Amino acid sequence: MAREQMEYDVVIVGAGPSGLSAAIRLKQLAAAAESEIAVCVIEKGSEVGAHILSGAVFEPRALNELIPDWRARGAPLNTPAGDDRFLFLTERGAWRLPTPPQMHNRGNYIVSLGNVCRWLATQAEELGVEIYPGFAAAEVLYDDDGQVVGVATGDMGIGKDGQPTANHQEGVELRGRMTLLAEGARGSLTKMLVARFGLRDHCDPQTYAIGIKELWEVAPERHHQGRVVHTVGWPLDNRTYGGSFLYHLEDNQVSVGFVIGLDYDNPHLSPFEEFQRFKTHPAIRETFEGGRRVAYGARALNEGGFQSIPRLDFPGGALIGCAAGFVNVPKIKGSHTAMKSGMVAAEAVFARLGGDERATVEGALRGSWVWDELYRVRNIRPSFRLGTMAGIAYSALDTYLFRGRAPWTFHNHADYAQLARADVMPPITYPRPDGKISFDRLTSVSFSFTNHEEGQPAHLKLRDPDKAIAINYSLYDSPEQRYCPAGVYEIVDDGPGDGAGGKRLQINAQNCVHCKTCDIKDPEQNIDWVVPEGGGGPNYPNM
Ligand SMILES: Cc1cc2nc3c(=O)[nH]c(=O)nc-3n(C[C@H](O)[C@H](O)[C@H](O)COP(=O)(O)OP(=O)(O)OC[C@H]3O[C@@H](n4cnc5c(N)ncnc54)[C@H](O)[C@@H]3O)c2cc1C
Ligand code: SF4
Repeated sequence: MAREQMEYDVVIVGAGPSGLSAAIRLKQLAAAAESEIAVCVIEKGSEVGAHILSGAVFEPRALNELIPDWRARGAPLNTPAGDDRFLFLTERGAWRLPTPPQMHNRGNYIVSLGNVCRWLATQAEELGVEIYPGFAAAEVLYDDDGQVVGVATGDMGIGKDGQPTANHQEGVELRGRMTLLAEGARGSLTKMLVARFGLRDHCDPQTYAIGIKELWEVAPERHHQGRVVHTVGWPLDNRTYGGSFLYHLEDNQVSVGFVIGLDYDNPHLSPFEEFQRFKTHPAIRETFEGGRRVAYGARALNEGGFQSIPRLDFPGGALIGCAAGFVNVPKIKGSHTAMKSGMVAAEAVFARLGGDERATVEGALRGSWVWDELYRVRNIRPSFRLGTMAGIAYSALDTYLFRGRAPWTFHNHADYAQLARADVMPPITYPRPDGKISFDRLTSVSFSFTNHEEGQPAHLKLRDPDKAIAINYSLYDSPEQRYCPAGVYEIVDDGPGDGAGGKRLQINAQNCVHCKTCDIKDPEQNIDWVVPEGGGGPNYPNM
């Protein structure tokens, strides 16, 4: 049977800042030209915002350009950022360092990016954009010439054996004259298109970090609305890139998170436990004493910057936002660049649909402030390969002396290839969680409100199942048990048996919070994250 088809001018995959900004800009351009344009956005979360996890200190530059009267329209930018603090932590001490210029946040706002997206979606719908949450794009559609002509959502009601169940519902084809991929970091369809069209053939590999975040309601006397704190140092060693953020929002809420570069080498490292341990530092724990954790989640973010920007255009569409990778790492911000990339892509696509064959998204982006902003900071993140202290020293030099114009460019290396074998790296012993400030993994996952329809096939696919034990377990002590922030991967022992004594990898896919870390960090690139049934995954309230 042929699948149901819906026709649009532009199909956008992902209702994050980039996808929604592109949709809004397309409708604004059509209105200005007194023409019509049919735009749809599909989103795998159960609602817009359900899968959005960010810090977030929000730089309003792109929003000012997109919706200049955002204040009057009730945008949820309620807490101006001020009082920036940058700390270097040792095991017991905290040293206040000068705040690097990129981390000055005057003029910015502390927000829930999920709520900003919910509000952007209402603005888009007012302009006539059709938004379909609860639909995951599972497949790219091509015409006979190999040009992308839209996407298809996955079938619903497929059993664990891959066969249709009594509740089977076929996916829908969303056909577009142009398709924009706005899936965020490590998008699953983006990965397929990058491979098919060789979009990364002429740039550095993309690199990533994992960000793990909690939202707390703290005691009023421990809350300082507008305060922005970043830390580096303890509990990470000098070889491991990362640090924390604490953002004091409105209503006694504090958003606290820990970001670790996925180029870490020690397979014994557990990003989740580093985060839990970090909160127990004397200078940090006082903020949370007497408070209550209200939400938990995790998401990968890209860190490759300028030298990792892939080719953006492919026949029939383009990549935008973190699907391509526009995070400004020294600023720890990517939502303003994601929005701007969506806006300039919309302008190029609109010109293209109007008959201008020369209009490209890449050309439009090169002419925008995103390009210049990323170019200037391109050497900062890669310099941390020399270690945290050397990275801080180089960053100061690059920022103050060279002003981002140094006549060299450092390169990025694929994160998965940096992992060393377990037997040559020091084991790490983590303290037990106290249940007040620090928590275990499974209790934490319950605060992500994750739900997947039961009975569906696991959406984490092993290309070669044998490698789970023969390589991952034997050589790396199964690092997926530790880097997965949701306890999805578990080595279980079925008793005496072949190989590693009856050991087997169990995949608890229903816990997955869609962070994409396993797809990135698996040392053999043996794990493919594909979309589960639409609507499955975390249900973040306001992350
Ligand atoms: C821990 C952390 C802290 C951060 N802090 C900040 C900060 O303080 N300030 C800042 O500016 N930036 C910050 N960032 C970066 C910022 O969040 C991103 O740059 C930004 O969200 C990227 O927007 P996007 O639209 O490209 O992608 P995303 O925000 O990731 O949105 C992508 C959307 O697409 C959906 N989707 C994906 N695949 C599919 C599919 N196949 N079908 C349907 N839907 C799909 C997802 O569910 C999601 O809703 C942070 C990121 C993290 C992880
Ligand atoms: S299974 Fe993979 S994508 Fe899901 S939470 Fe774990 S590491 Fe993240």
